[in-house]
Amino acid sequence: MKQYKGYLIDLDGTMYNGTEKIQEAVDFVNQLHQRGERYIFLTNNSTKHPRDVAKVLNEMGVPAEEEHVFTTSMATASYIAAENPNAKVFPIGEVGLIEALKAANLTISDTEIDYVVMGLDRNITYEKLTVGALAIRKGAKFVATNGDVALPSERGFLPGAGSLISVLSVTTGVKPKFIGKPESIIVDQALAVLGTSKEETLMIGDNYATDILAGINAGIDSLLVFTGVTKQKDLTTVKVQPTYTIDSLKNWAQ
Ligand SMILES: [Mg+2]
Repeated sequence: MKQYKGYLIDLDGTMYNGTEKIQEAVDFVNQLHQRGERYIFLTNNSTKHPRDVAKVLNEMGVPAEEEHVFTTSMATASYIAAENPNAKVFPIGEVGLIEALKAANLTISDTEIDYVVMGLDRNITYEKLTVGALAIRKGAKFVATNGDVALPSERGFLPGAGSLISVLSVTTGVKPKFIGKPESIIVDQALAVLGTSKEETLMIGDNYATDILAGINAGIDSLLVFTGVTKQKDLTTVKVQPTYTIDSLKNWAQ
């Protein structure tokens, strides 16, 4: 087995399912921590501040500081700031997105708008969609945190960011630039934070369509763990297989 120095680890379905922790994954991260390995939790959840994500992980017994969490909102904010550090942005999203945009020194505006930035917003209104749609029609760039259409929950699959984003996309005829997994953008940014090279980093996740494809698109090795969305049988139809597959992280010994 190849030795890795850095790990990009998904959250939901990998570290926990809803509010229930996955003990084997908790133990695995504790081992990484004890060995002094580098790891970052890489999530398409745009709604939360990394501090709050770390807190949830701590309560599950996972050693995690705010610096161990990289959200698609952070990746989206860095992407825009790199393109135009003086950009005025109109966000449609929750606190995780708005805080990330502010942390990147971008200006929030609902009048002069260079970018419409959209993530999951569980307080979406017709007015927010209207401001966003009119700005995009006037030429504002359209950037989206992630395209996940469905959000797994205890109640079943709820509308995801991608479903809400499609409303703006359909009304304007403009497809957004997606930043989150499976895009390589978020992986490249996380690698820069982690400080490891592509060759020495492993992407770990439960979802082939987001986590594993993100690894494949970014050119890094991937480990699919069958504790969440993707099952063994789902892999029969995919073109590129994950580098490794495993039932649980318990058996992932190095
Ligand atoms: Mg997941």
